[in-house]
Amino acid sequence: MTRAPNLNIVPFVSVDHMMKLVLTIGTERFLTELAEYIEDDFKRWESFDKTARVASHSLDGVIELMPTSDGALYGFKYVNGHPKNIRDGRQTVTAFGVLADVGTGYPVLMTEMTILTALRTAAMSAVAAKYLAPKGSDTMAIIGNGAQSEFQAMAFKAILGITKLRLYDIDPVATEKCARNLAGAGFEITQCKTSQDAVEGAHIITTVTADKQCATILTDNMVGAGVHINAVGGDCPGKTELHKDILTRSDIFVEYPPQTRIEGEIQQLPADYPVIELWEVMVGKTQGRRDPSQITLFDSVGFAIEDFSALRYVRDKLTATGLYVNLDLLADPDEPRDLYGMLLRHQSVMAYG
Ligand code: NAD
Repeated sequence: MTRAPNLNIVPFVSVDHMMKLVLTIGTERFLTELAEYIEDDFKRWESFDKTARVASHSLDGVIELMPTSDGALYGFKYVNGHPKNIRDGRQTVTAFGVLADVGTGYPVLMTEMTILTALRTAAMSAVAAKYLAPKGSDTMAIIGNGAQSEFQAMAFKAILGITKLRLYDIDPVATEKCARNLAGAGFEITQCKTSQDAVEGAHIITTVTADKQCATILTDNMVGAGVHINAVGGDCPGKTELHKDILTRSDIFVEYPPQTRIEGEIQQLPADYPVIELWEVMVGKTQGRRDPSQITLFDSVGFAIEDFSALRYVRDKLTATGLYVNLDLLADPDEPRDLYGMLLRHQSVMAYG
């Protein structure tokens, strides 16, 4: 019997390797190339198997599985969201993921995705803003200066040319951390005392807070004509960031409506409220920004195809960088039906060394 060599060995990208991969490629180049992968996949939207993510909710958070396939590759991500984790020194969001070959069903990549999720979320936000933000945008407010915030800033710099940041967090320590991490990255940074101050003069408003409740990070009076809102933190039933009145004044763009209607800002609106699918804007089927006074809103929740794109991107970088280890993940008896025999032979290896 012949078979492809090393099919049973699965490349694994650890957190350490992911950090080295990002730093070797360069954060801005990584985000730009990842954005291209996301855009390419959104432009072939109809070739994907799509389903709203499978969520298991608890009092303190949520654990989710996010699968999709384009018929040749299958990918899924395991991700959690636990806003209270931060109080015990843990991340709000952690993740790992797998890419598999549809032909054999064998995994071809397993990787950390906590860092990769921050990168792909930021890249996705910047791709959406490319189609929706007002022309010549150079100033962005970031409300919520936690784990995702610097990635958002870097993606908007690399892809949109944002150079001025107005930061606000209810915890000034988070704002200081964000400003410190971004010092020397080419931004003019203003640390703000209130969210009202943060949105002053901003062409783009990014909300990326974490709270397991329907919060009101932005009220209607804070959003002027022509602004693009990148709403990232409302991504779960009962967890939103924007006042409902903002939604009804905006044109709302979403990833996958069946998932966003459950998880996004639009959970506050009737189930048939009109929204625009971003992939249709990307392929030119629907218009993005029509005029300078329009308020556009990307109601981001994070969709499986973005993770699929990220997994594809990382896999494509592995051979050149060698930043992975081989994982002994799949049992591989010489004769495929002799799985039990392999176990027995291993017993003698253990007994006699
Ligand atoms: P984090 O806990 O590291 O940071 C959240 C920050 O928000 C904290 O610094 C907190 O002090 C601040 N905050 C909370 N309430 C606030 C308020 N009312 N005003 C201003 N700041 C406030 O979390 P993170 O990893 O940065 O994630 C942020 C949010 O983004 C989470 O809700 C997470 O679920 C969401 N998220 C969405 C996507 C997506 O694809 N849409 C992907 C990843 C994370």
